[in-house]
Amino acid sequence: MVKSFRSKLTGVFGYPVDENPTIVMQEAAFQAAGLDWRYLTLLVKPEDLPAAVQGMRAMNFDGINLTIPHKTAIIPLLDEITESAELIGAVNTVYRDEDKLIGTNTDGKGFVEGMKQRGIDLKGKHLVILGAGGAGRAVAVESALAGCSSISIINRNADRGQSLRDLLNKKTDCQADFIPWADGVRIPACDILINATSVGLYPDKNYPDIRLDDIKPGMIVQDIIPNPAITPFLKEAQKRGAVIYDGLAMLVYQGAIAYKLWTGAEPSIEVMKQALAEAFA
Ligand code: NDP
Repeated sequence: MVKSFRSKLTGVFGYPVDENPTIVMQEAAFQAAGLDWRYLTLLVKPEDLPAAVQGMRAMNFDGINLTIPHKTAIIPLLDEITESAELIGAVNTVYRDEDKLIGTNTDGKGFVEGMKQRGIDLKGKHLVILGAGGAGRAVAVESALAGCSSISIINRNADRGQSLRDLLNKKTDCQADFIPWADGVRIPACDILINATSVGLYPDKNYPDIRLDDIKPGMIVQDIIPNPAITPFLKEAQKRGAVIYDGLAMLVYQGAIAYKLWTGAEPSIEVMKQALAEAFA
């Protein structure tokens, strides 16, 4: 007898989307929960995004992730976006509310949840964030909404850095300042230093060009790059006595938040972590 399934569909729209690690953790989580859901990796060229979103509606996808370059371009194609996605100016996750497609951003929420799971409360903390690209903006906005008191943004491109500073100062209760990125830039005293640049992402072997001796023993240093887990930057921070955290937790929790929005259920965090660890091994 032939048994046919009507799988529930999710996936990621990207261009290109090769080697996207989210597929392995989402599919592993569906399987572990016994859900007949699929997470597809779909190459969508920028000019085809409106047709792809129409296709998503027509084929009853329950949700989708977006990667570069679609995170901003998708916004006018959706029915609604959440408040934090509006502040961040980018959507990485779309979910369905009956016939409506709603855009949100789980990257920064994944960062905040990763910190919470390690027992770190962001309330009242001073953060220094290297980078003001999509991920840097998401981490900064969600950290500000989670109650951190001040954020220093350090970015090469001054316009991007200043616009993030202005956004935080205008729209959140967090006090933000911008430090232009010069060679060997000094890091102000802080509770948590975060690398949200792409410097050190596999196969790059560099670390951000900052004054490393400003990293003090006991300082929390987080690299949001998930691959490799221990980046050249984290190795340097560890040599200086910092408490280091890799980008895997953020990746897992941003995916877990999306999974819950799609299915309504909590995924197995352990299964997702294991699937990612194997993918990056
Ligand atoms: P973007 O392209 O939007 O931003 C890249 C950022 O890196 C910009 O701030 C850019 O500065 C900075 N940058 C790049 N090269 C250098 C350099 N040589 N020196 C100083 N700064 C540099 O990318 P995303 O924000 O989307 O991603 C950034 C990183 O975050 C990636 O490595 C990605 O893997 C990781 N990430 C991790 C996630 C997780 O869940 N763990 C989720 C999303 C992203 P400028 O503005 O001056 O060009």
